[in-house]
Amino acid sequence: MNNINSIKLFEEAQKYIPGGVNSPVRAFKSVGLSPLYIEKGRGAYIYDSDGNGYIDYVGSWGPLILGHLHPEVIGAISECLAVGTSFGAPTERETTLARMIVEAMPSVEMVRLVNSGTEAAMSAARLARAYTKRKKIIKFEGCYHGHADTFLIKAGSGALTHGVPTSPGVIEETAAHTINATFNDLEGLEQLFKSSGEEIAAVIVEPVPGNMGVVPPQPGFLQGLRDLASRYGSLLIFDEVITGFRLSYGGAQSLYGVMPDITCMGKIIGGGLPVGAYGGRKEIMSMLSPSGPVYQAGTLSGNPLAVSAGIAALKILGRPGFYEELDGKASRMAIGLSGAARKAGVEVCFNRVGSMLCGFFTKGRVTDFKTACDSDTRKYSVFFRSMLEQGVYLAPSQFEAAFISLAHTNEIIDKTLEAASRAFEAVANTSF
Ligand SMILES: *Cc1c(COP(=O)(O)O)cnc(C)c1O
Repeated sequence: MNNINSIKLFEEAQKYIPGGVNSPVRAFKSVGLSPLYIEKGRGAYIYDSDGNGYIDYVGSWGPLILGHLHPEVIGAISECLAVGTSFGAPTERETTLARMIVEAMPSVEMVRLVNSGTEAAMSAARLARAYTKRKKIIKFEGCYHGHADTFLIKAGSGALTHGVPTSPGVIEETAAHTINATFNDLEGLEQLFKSSGEEIAAVIVEPVPGNMGVVPPQPGFLQGLRDLASRYGSLLIFDEVITGFRLSYGGAQSLYGVMPDITCMGKIIGGGLPVGAYGGRKEIMSMLSPSGPVYQAGTLSGNPLAVSAGIAALKILGRPGFYEELDGKASRMAIGLSGAARKAGVEVCFNRVGSMLCGFFTKGRVTDFKTACDSDTRKYSVFFRSMLEQGVYLAPSQFEAAFISLAHTNEIIDKTLEAASRAFEAVANTSF
């Protein structure tokens, strides 16, 4: 694999950008490689600056559920581009996207658009604290809610692979108000609520965590969260930045039938452009400025280009059969992968919910952060490199999801599986 141009570009970037990247996980550090510079994408493929093509399972870390350059999304952006890129004044399309989100997400009656998932989660926490007049937030170890101080307490994803459990600069006084719980451990959570339930403003959770690899909620866990939060007068926040419009048109809340008080969204709802959103019951959302006292604003919030792309994407996702088709592809992939691993004699725990997929290099089941950390990341590195050399672009970290998109045809998936067979062989033949 020739990546001489990428290496040169990375060297140049490091002079001007900290670590050469604008988001840490892009640096490929945890797999010991230099990042690829991507020049273009099309469908399920991306192409780097050395002319190599790859089947893409990162999908811009979740947004590209339709693949790259979906013609309807690009058409909507182009139409919008012809009339202006930002006005700092309301546009009709913002109401359209808000209405689509409200109609899709059963627990959401009103929604505020922001620019990123980080902003959505940060604002949701402020709103929950204002609504309950309480200070503490419970989160789950290994769940990621963006990089606001409140959540940068033993966060997963980038922070996890870089071994920075708590970032310098996040002050103790802030950290003191965030409590980490164990995902899928309802008993532990019950104890927490028993001891300090009256102080808890909110419990925030990725209903299906996708930032410690993929970890499905055990039956009853999400409902248990709902019940506990209600019993103690705390709010339940679902961070559906990944799962919203990915697991079903109505997100994880529709899939599992559990209704949060506030929902955070992002990624898919921007159709590949920067967007975030948070929404919930009218009574809670009405506390936001200018209808209420809780301040939150954004110069580019509801940006016309991003909103147009989001509307176009959601229109496609709302068509009958979309999620069934996606699920079929993801299932084909998961079954093929576990077969290939077994054949090579490599122990892998595969977790899949809908089109979110992860193979952990560990014997046991992965049900929380601790068991996710049992995976052998050296094996993942070997697997990752082999896949990359064969033209398959996975997330450069064990603790991420692989995302299947509409653009991944069965042929493309079968090609991926052939590569995976060889990659698992490579893992089996490496001594660690
Ligand atoms: C990506 C992500 C975020 C942060 O979104 P950004 O747009 O990167 O700020 C928050 N929560 C979850 C679950 C995410 O996956």
